[in-house]
Amino acid sequence: MKILVINAGSSSMKYQLIDMTDESTLAKGNCERIGIDGHFKHTTSDGRSCEYDVQMNNHTEAFMQIKNALTDEKVGVIKELSEVSAIGHRIVQGGSIFKESCLVTDKVIEDIESLIPLAPLHNAAHVQGIRACIDVFGKEVPEVVVFDTAFHSTMPETAYMYAVPYEYYEKYAVRRYGFHGTSHRYVSARCAELMGKDIKDLKIITCHLGNGSSITAIDGGKVVDTSMGLTPLDGIMMGTRTGCLDPSVVTFIMEKSGLTPSEMDTLLNKKSGFLGISGISSDDRDVCAAAAEGNKRAQLAIDMLEYHILKYIGSYVAVLGGVDAIVFTAGIGENQSSHRENVCHKLGYIGVEIDDEVNAKAIRGVEGKISTENSKVDVFVIPTNEEIVIARDTMALVTK
Ligand code: ADP
Repeated sequence: MKILVINAGSSSMKYQLIDMTDESTLAKGNCERIGIDGHFKHTTSDGRSCEYDVQMNNHTEAFMQIKNALTDEKVGVIKELSEVSAIGHRIVQGGSIFKESCLVTDKVIEDIESLIPLAPLHNAAHVQGIRACIDVFGKEVPEVVVFDTAFHSTMPETAYMYAVPYEYYEKYAVRRYGFHGTSHRYVSARCAELMGKDIKDLKIITCHLGNGSSITAIDGGKVVDTSMGLTPLDGIMMGTRTGCLDPSVVTFIMEKSGLTPSEMDTLLNKKSGFLGISGISSDDRDVCAAAAEGNKRAQLAIDMLEYHILKYIGSYVAVLGGVDAIVFTAGIGENQSSHRENVCHKLGYIGVEIDDEVNAKAIRGVEGKISTENSKVDVFVIPTNEEIVIARDTMALVTK
């Protein structure tokens, strides 16, 4: 069975065609700048590729590019589109409606649309992606939706409620939802596999550290708390996002600088974090390079990031009442061994001990344990794979 995994954004659409017989990726690519000037990239697992500028006025036209590339004589991986058995879509916000993945129906599309106010850019784009997919593949190809928030739906009320007047929860569904759930779900399950234990018996803290970052406390396979909130802005400091802050900072800056809500939103989401503190870049590699050359603000950004990670791990150890394993994943988590080293060295008080040499080598897609045999807590680097989770859920639902 071949499954097409789609991650539709407002102006981009990433895809992967996965062969479920061995879970290998046959081809992947990205339609960028949809509705602007248009750029298309496609590569196959055996090294064939194409890349060109092409106008794509909407998501349906983007799907036509994908369809053409997948079945192309030179760079194609299938003969006919009918070889695609099902399509799985990543959806950012499932609200309180979707607690697990499900097959797409008219009602499901309506429900995803109803959640647009909670994730205006993302959910609106996902709905466009689903509709475009129906246009190109037809209704007979089953589609499945997999939600970033679903894995976090097990959080208890005490963790997801904010202490604002209760009516805002009732009226506007203001609460913590959490994001990156598919990634946290994949790496926590993989962690249990690597430990040779049932996830039901484990307390795990997963650190998804990328351009956007979140940390999650998982007890017996169920999320009990996560650092992102109503939106993906809360938690630890990120590439361009603030992470947690005293909410009064927002009203204070708005009043002092005369910013509108939308300008303030841009400041918090696009101008803060690594970029805002270092003044150099949102990219961890650039900031680390500048810090190595003695740039003090770049060093401050790094110290703040590591401090935030440490603080969340510490608080989640308290929430879980102990921890069996800590997992690092995503761009920074999988590649920046120095952050892992600095954080883990400060966790000696809970029995964490990592092997610095093993840690330094755990980069660029390496999966493995970086803690020593003596460590009371296992520490892993596990490259995330959200696409495989989407493909597995899709297969499970369409073969049910
Ligand atoms: P996104 O949240 O957009 O998916 P990623 O998970 O790709 O982001 O993470 C992006 C971050 O990971 C950047 O800050 C980048 O510096 C860092 N990163 C990615 N690859 C590497 C690498 N090979 N070495 C060091 N850092 C990396």
